[in-house]
Amino acid sequence: MNPVVLHVEPNNHETDGRIERVANQVRDYFTLNFAMPTNARVICYLDGTDRDWLKQMWGGASNRGVHWPIRGQGLHDWPQDMWCTIACSDPPSGEIDWPYESVIYLHGSTCQIEVQLAMTLAHELQHFLQYSHQRQTWAINTLLAKLPYLPSADLNHWYDLPAEREARIIGKRVSEAIFGKLVVNNHIEIMARTSCSVEDAADWSFIRALDSNEAYDVRAATIPFVERHRQGLEDLQRTTFSADKDLGTVSLDI
Ligand SMILES: [Zn+2]
Repeated sequence: MNPVVLHVEPNNHETDGRIERVANQVRDYFTLNFAMPTNARVICYLDGTDRDWLKQMWGGASNRGVHWPIRGQGLHDWPQDMWCTIACSDPPSGEIDWPYESVIYLHGSTCQIEVQLAMTLAHELQHFLQYSHQRQTWAINTLLAKLPYLPSADLNHWYDLPAEREARIIGKRVSEAIFGKLVVNNHIEIMARTSCSVEDAADWSFIRALDSNEAYDVRAATIPFVERHRQGLEDLQRTTFSADKDLGTVSLDI
């Protein structure tokens, strides 16, 4: 069984088919080119609309999608209407079956532009692979993003995090494989020019400069960050994340 399950929320008959086709191409790329988990599944919820609460939680207006590990965190912040797709309860008993390890969510506006759909879906799927295959690296990157004194000299932008850099490399690589470099570069130019915030414009400039074929070792790239922020990470583990099974107990010796 393919560990990547696609759900296109019905919206417009014509565009729904296009969205499904592009999402399938992204999934096929991952299946062919990467080792996929054998004991974990992810559901990709490709929405027909945008969800403001989700944008507010992650990055504001420029948020295009998210990878959310369900295990250990649950779905209590997520709207009830999505529950039945992500984790349906059995009506007689009220028991919830948890078929997926993670949910990947993409806003409707992300799905409407094919290149953006491919780039964001591949980006979030790479986070799913980080979570599945490199849990320690994933957890340390998640903690780094929560350091209370950010921004710092080395963590000034979201894309400074090694896990985010890798996700952007893969997002660019997969969309180029599907649409070609020219189409992707044009898309990046348009997004950089029309972006809704200074941070988003910086992000697109970063993506434009990335080499999509770069062989990037996310674990090795994380080590210097641990060396520089060990005290802050230990403080977070002792306080905010003391009860979190991944973040609270992860070894910082990477
Ligand atoms: Zn990301």
